[in-house]
Amino acid sequence: MIVDTPSPNFNDRDLPVSMLVLHYTGMKTAAAAIARLTDADSQVSAHYLVAEDGAVVRMVDEGKRAWHAGASYWRGIRDVNSASIGIEIVNPGHEFGYRPFPASQIEAVIRLASGIVKRHAISRANVVGHSDIAPARKIDPGELFPWDKLAEYGLALARPGRAHIDPGWKDEAFLLALERYGYDIEDREAAVRAFQRRWRPGTIDGIVDGQCRAMLWALLLDHESGAEL
Ligand SMILES: [Zn+2]
Repeated sequence: MIVDTPSPNFNDRDLPVSMLVLHYTGMKTAAAAIARLTDADSQVSAHYLVAEDGAVVRMVDEGKRAWHAGASYWRGIRDVNSASIGIEIVNPGHEFGYRPFPASQIEAVIRLASGIVKRHAISRANVVGHSDIAPARKIDPGELFPWDKLAEYGLALARPGRAHIDPGWKDEAFLLALERYGYDIEDREAAVRAFQRRWRPGTIDGIVDGQCRAMLWALLLDHESGAEL
């Protein structure tokens, strides 16, 4: 069920929708998050919020530009707000007690995201976390977010699971590959952490290792060959 709680924080888009950005709210309660996202003074919003019990709140019409991404970058796009739909997923986040996302909440996210991706023909590779598009500023939705579950439904890219060869890149080459894949690499360590948070959440240390290289190599091959679509 979707409940409408309109936010005044939106304007017109300058770009067609091509991305879906997932966030966690990072506030103590869902009520506090809804209050902030619909408060004109906060200057922030999202199209939807998904509560821990799976209830969905619609705050901004999908045709409008919500204000959730901030200073961001993904695959050549800097005005991510203009090009995206934003979903805030209720979780206290790292500041207030980061915890696993309940199954009922993730089921609701999957239902909601399925419709959005279909309506706007968004590619799986463009279903991203806030940390992917703002590595130096953001860590949400965080390493507990079940990207694999979304991937099962074709809503996100799966982690490369096959045995891959470590291309043996020096760190410089890894960063160039990361940029080519779509990440903002201005803050190099933050970019590596963002990559790890999304693709190898067991160890997020900002240090490039063989597993990171092998995964990025696999992702980039699929990206360049068009197989990721
Ligand atoms: Zn966020």
